[in-house]
Amino acid sequence: MRILLVEDDRSIATSVIDGLSAEGFDIDHAPTGAAALAATGYDMVLLDLGLPDMDGREVCRQLRTRTAVPIIMLTARSEEFDRVLGLELGADDYVTKPFSFRELVARIRAVGRRTVAAPGESPAASDEPQAAQRIGALSLDRRTRRVYLDGEEIALTAKEFDLLAFLATDTGAVHTRTEILENVWDAHWYGPTKTVDAHVASLRKKLGNHEWIQAVRGVGFRLEPVE
Ligand code: CA
Repeated sequence: MRILLVEDDRSIATSVIDGLSAEGFDIDHAPTGAAALAATGYDMVLLDLGLPDMDGREVCRQLRTRTAVPIIMLTARSEEFDRVLGLELGADDYVTKPFSFRELVARIRAVGRRTVAAPGESPAASDEPQAAQRIGALSLDRRTRRVYLDGEEIALTAKEFDLLAFLATDTGAVHTRTEILENVWDAHWYGPTKTVDAHVASLRKKLGNHEWIQAVRGVGFRLEPVE
């Protein structure tokens, strides 16, 4: 796995690079937002919020407009607001500084498992390959994590895919925001439920019709095929 670390603090960067290299990760370093935006070909980005040339949130937003690469934000303990906004901007997870190296590696592995198709890793997947689930004009393939609408592939972020796949586990049923948070976000995520609404909004936009995901006032959301 090729990881890009975007971090201006030299001592943090050095220890993260040394540690992740020792764990077998292929890691490169970008000390600025501009360098991060110029880099390509990574499987994951670790993104510091406080960069010298631009705000990490802006780097996240710009990366998201062009790639679905998993992004883990590195935030300071006091940056509660940033954490929420970061997830809304399309980050897949966050780690709060100061973080333990073990915690960072666990988070990278967890995000990697959710976002990178790993053939053979799941016995169920290798023994009996499942056909893609059809929901009206939508086709959702959990094995390859690909989604097609009228045969055209839609590029979803990892979280958007997870959200759609979760709603699709019971098409037509209403899922509460809390239920969605618990299933789509990590158990450690106790953020505001409006994070769900932000991801629903971006997913609806990509599906081209907001009726795919219907809001049930005061309860939650349900996925319904659009006729
Ligand atoms: Ca910094």
